[in-house]
Amino acid sequence: MAATSWLSGRGGALVLMYHSVADEEDARWIDPLNHVPAEIFERQMEFLAEHRRVVRMEQLVQEIRDGKSVEDGTVVITFDDGYRDNLTVAAPILERLGMTATLFLPTGYIDRGETQWIDQAYTAFKHATNRLLAWGENERRFDLDDPREYRDAYRLVCQALLMAGSEERRALMDRLLGSLAPAVAPPRLTLTWDEVRTLVDSGAMELGGHTVEHTDLTTISVAAAIHEIGRCRERIRDMIGSEPRHFSFCYGRSSEELRQALPGLGIDAACAARAGERVVTGSSDSLYLPRIAAPPDLRRFEVAVSTANRGLWRRLGR
Ligand SMILES: [Zn+2]
Repeated sequence: MAATSWLSGRGGALVLMYHSVADEEDARWIDPLNHVPAEIFERQMEFLAEHRRVVRMEQLVQEIRDGKSVEDGTVVITFDDGYRDNLTVAAPILERLGMTATLFLPTGYIDRGETQWIDQAYTAFKHATNRLLAWGENERRFDLDDPREYRDAYRLVCQALLMAGSEERRALMDRLLGSLAPAVAPPRLTLTWDEVRTLVDSGAMELGGHTVEHTDLTTISVAAAIHEIGRCRERIRDMIGSEPRHFSFCYGRSSEELRQALPGLGIDAACAARAGERVVTGSSDSLYLPRIAAPPDLRRFEVAVSTANRGLWRRLGR
């Protein structure tokens, strides 16, 4: 628990997770759970530059490998999924402040320039012209004009999309779009490979893998999961020229079998959720690094990035 790490004075590093940092215009198309507003992101980065020790993922991994204690207040910045605003909004800010983040890419989405499934669903619900949805095993009917039914239906649909393999997910999405008949579709929100190259060349971001199809790897066989990780790395190598050594598990879901397979796949650091863990210390497992989602406001962000500090309030920077 975060609270107990503060009380016991356990210091170390935090790995922060971002998705989209879009401006207001693009944020209309993005599930708020995946979004930190552009101006808040800028203030968060300024806070980190002034009050924290921001390092690259590689450096944190090296410090763990050396078996030293990881300095209090160390922060690694990461992005998942490949939103275009990572280039247009985040990169200039990171460049200005001299910081480098890690961007974890689901390569199939970049190949196709496809909007993340969650944002396709979010937009379809928001702009549905058909306000009745029949969904689930029992074809339960939801009235989308009722806020509670809207929320329940969206949750149910997202859960099904999350658990689905890529082909099943495509079929579900087709069905959803067919049923809701949204009046509009999102603009391009996903990076192209040319834009990924520009990002890497800017020095603001280095790359890691995030599967090909943004799949929960614990829902498919270990062999299929290993294949996904390998194909993702190869695609990044083919398009960018170097194979990433870092990986983030989609939805934080990994397993002991997958963890053990990673070194053989050339991966020396991986982010995955582990109940109750937030802080990375010198004794952490670099193939099972916990992350925290960056809160979408400044105050909660300052508290969140202080959970890896001994003496929380003294170090809040005020
Ligand atoms: Zn993701």
